[in-house]
Amino acid sequence: MDLSLFFAGTAGSVPTARRGMPAVLLRRGGDRLLFDCGEGTQRQLLRSVGLADVQAVFLTHLHLDHWLGLPGMLKSFELRDREAPLAVYGPPGTVELLRSMRLVYGRLRFPFEVVDLEAGDGVEFDGFEINAFNVRHRGRAFGYVIVEDPRPGRFDAELAMRLGVPFGPDFGRLQRGEVVNGVRPEQVVGPERAGRRLVLSGDTAPCEMLRVAADRADVLVHEATFADEERERAAQTGHSTARQAAEIALEADVRLLALTHVSTRYGGGEIRDEARAIFERTEVPRDFDEIDVPFPEKGEPELRRYDAERARA
Ligand SMILES: [Zn+2]
Ligand SMILES: [Zn+2]
Repeated sequence: MDLSLFFAGTAGSVPTARRGMPAVLLRRGGDRLLFDCGEGTQRQLLRSVGLADVQAVFLTHLHLDHWLGLPGMLKSFELRDREAPLAVYGPPGTVELLRSMRLVYGRLRFPFEVVDLEAGDGVEFDGFEINAFNVRHRGRAFGYVIVEDPRPGRFDAELAMRLGVPFGPDFGRLQRGEVVNGVRPEQVVGPERAGRRLVLSGDTAPCEMLRVAADRADVLVHEATFADEERERAAQTGHSTARQAAEIALEADVRLLALTHVSTRYGGGEIRDEARAIFERTEVPRDFDEIDVPFPEKGEPELRRYDAERARA
């Protein structure tokens, strides 16, 4: 099952020529979920992976830079005669916000639902779940955990045959929990394996809840609005520095840290270097970069740089 995070916009607060407003597209199998939808997100998607039939949009919080792209995107879906349902989830106030925007996006003929979440709420999808948790920002703000259902344990086919189970349908019966020829499933099927887990911080100051949520996650996407020289400014505005994000990643022992929501004053290199001095496995994605997240036994999460040529092909 393919699992990846596509960075549609990696700026914080204001866009630059090279970085668009915050938006991350989660792709898992055929599922497409968008986290935040800053101004211009639909065009960012059109220029790269296409305006996919996103099933749901999760807003981390209601600051303008994280949702202004939504009314326009809704309108485009309507003009494209979208029929598939769309749900928008966010912290308390999301329902009210979208209602007030109704004047902008008008009537939608596709099924459209807006839901205020509370911290701890989960939204289930086929094979995975999204959970909201509180982070430390100005006003209510969520981080999100994306967690896959556990996988069945590894099946030891060789051992099964040695114990006298013939290759074929009996293998399936054992994997489904049946006893075959006196061989019990637990003899040949290993313990259940945890699904992959991705954590998105949204905008936040360093946050204990986030550290707990990120514990040994496959990927932590953390904001790094500032470098450490602006630690004070970060504290005043409820943001993190690259160094602080790296410290969280180190304590949580994540497999990969991806820094985003980068302030206009940084190109990205200085943010990356500062974080890597603390936590080596750090990347600072540019717009349209993607992180592939294989199962642990298949390899490490990896940043794939955007290749405009390949995208056009
Ligand atoms: Zn922001
Ligand atoms: Zn914010």
